[in-house]
Amino acid sequence: CGIFAYLNFNLSRERRYILEVLFNGLRRLEYRGYDSAGISIDSSSESDAVVSPALVFRKEGNIESLVKSVNQEVAATDLNLDESFSVHAGIAHTRWATHGEPAPRNSHPQTSDSRNEFLVVHNGVITNYEVLKETLVRHGFTFESDTDTEVIPKLAKYVFDNANEEGDKSVTFSQVVLEVMRHLEGAYALIFKSTHYPNELIACKRGSPLLLGVKELIEEPSRASFNDTKFLLSNGQPKELFLSSDASALVEHTKKVLVIEDGEVVHIQDGGASIFKYENAKEKGCEKLKRPAS
Ligand code: GLU
Repeated sequence: CGIFAYLNFNLSRERRYILEVLFNGLRRLEYRGYDSAGISIDSSSESDAVVSPALVFRKEGNIESLVKSVNQEVAATDLNLDESFSVHAGIAHTRWATHGEPAPRNSHPQTSDSRNEFLVVHNGVITNYEVLKETLVRHGFTFESDTDTEVIPKLAKYVFDNANEEGDKSVTFSQVVLEVMRHLEGAYALIFKSTHYPNELIACKRGSPLLLGVKELIEEPSRASFNDTKFLLSNGQPKELFLSSDASALVEHTKKVLVIEDGEVVHIQDGGASIFKYENAKEKGCEKLKRPAS
């Protein structure tokens, strides 16, 4: 029932610190109620996506049991808490189950495949997930969870693979997400992470709340400079950015918060965030991506 993300750019942060920011974000969202929680971080500070798959930790129960299981995993796998990341994008989720019992496999992030190529945290309900699931199963996807959410990362992988097969190696993260959005019905706030687009995050929403928090920005991010298609936070050097479903998880980090509106897409990369409207972007040729045969 809560989503949170933390990105640091050109600012060295140890894995220990990144985990603590994500856990604290979840602790701030606790009051909204939840039955499970999960996070995803990078396995290595090397930028090669092949050798640096995203790690996923998911647990039913309270935040502290997630923290405990992450600590156990860290001890068991020699994951270095001192490892330093000059850039890193982490995502986190507290779940209030609507589809599928509280269990690790139903917790978020939900993933596209065993390599975690696309990861999604979701608040809300996808009402047409059954028809999307049927289509994806026909295209060879196997589902691990009973959630409505799992169709989203799998659809992202489908769209990405299709674009690549058609020779479009330059397909961008936002093109993939826009195509995914085109198929989704229901209410959602989503954050996407992908090993194909390291150090980038995309968030979008329809009907569920989403906020962007920016630290180290000289001016307030405001809608005054919002020119309808692209709003670049270039009037400063943001070094830390946050996404959250609730202001309570942002206040300890920054007061510079922008409320994202329905139909807007936030693309964070290279130390800044661009915000554009789904409707406008759609007209700009994102239709070139193939839709799953129905
Ligand atoms: N519908 C999703 C699920 O059941 C997300 C629920 C939520 O908003 O926490 O997994």
